[in-house]
Amino acid sequence: MKTVVANWKMNVGVRESVALARASLLTLRGRKMIPDLVICPPFVALSEVRKVVARSSATLGAQNVFWEASGPYTGETSARMLQESGVTHVIIGHCERRIHLHETDEMVNKKILHALGEQLTPILCVGESKASRDAGEARAIVEAQLSSALRGARLHTQGRLFVAYEPVWAIGTGESAGVGEVIEMHRFIRSVLEHVFPDAHTGQFSILYGGSVDGENAYSFLREADVDGVLVGTASVKINQFKEIIASAAEVLEAQRPT
Ligand code: PEP
Repeated sequence: MKTVVANWKMNVGVRESVALARASLLTLRGRKMIPDLVICPPFVALSEVRKVVARSSATLGAQNVFWEASGPYTGETSARMLQESGVTHVIIGHCERRIHLHETDEMVNKKILHALGEQLTPILCVGESKASRDAGEARAIVEAQLSSALRGARLHTQGRLFVAYEPVWAIGTGESAGVGEVIEMHRFIRSVLEHVFPDAHTGQFSILYGGSVDGENAYSFLREADVDGVLVGTASVKINQFKEIIASAAEVLEAQRPT
């Protein structure tokens, strides 16, 4: 299976989110094979987008979660509250939160533990900065982020974990990573996950690529067996681009279908 995660960030309000959700679902229509689509609107639009998504195979994701179940945490939202809103997936550790909100590895770890404990599927974002890449430290950074984020984590037999490899320098820049680099990093991430969760089966992990994925380059990533899907920011709110990305995923799935 291939998964397409649409991260709408803070780019659309409630009305636009509903319209975009409808348009995004239309891109699935009439296709024999469709990818798993996870739509992550801003928090304020979750309940309205839920109504649109309810009539489809798509699922709802949140862009963040807090690590406590309840209490005096103004402005925060727990996993249970997200589930009440129909959310099944949650993006954790996105580099925009690490950079602008100073989210630390420790905070990311607490969020991962909370989400997994509440059976919410985390979409854990990891990736190196341009400086780390230039210094040849990409793997070391990703490994450190993974081991810190997953410290103490347990995966239920039915539990799932998504990891999005999102090099910071590729986010929203129009400069995506090379396919070869992505494959290499995805294999490395898988080996780390297998080490962290020795009892898990491979179907419990999905490793996505994110970073300037668009209608033009989506196919080149999605066709790769090591790429379980893509996390899309900018192009997910541009419906023509998004349509191309869904078409690419559908094409790959169609080609892989046993005859
Ligand atoms: C993202 O924000 O997770 C992302 C991948 O953004 P973009 O597609 O714009 O690079």
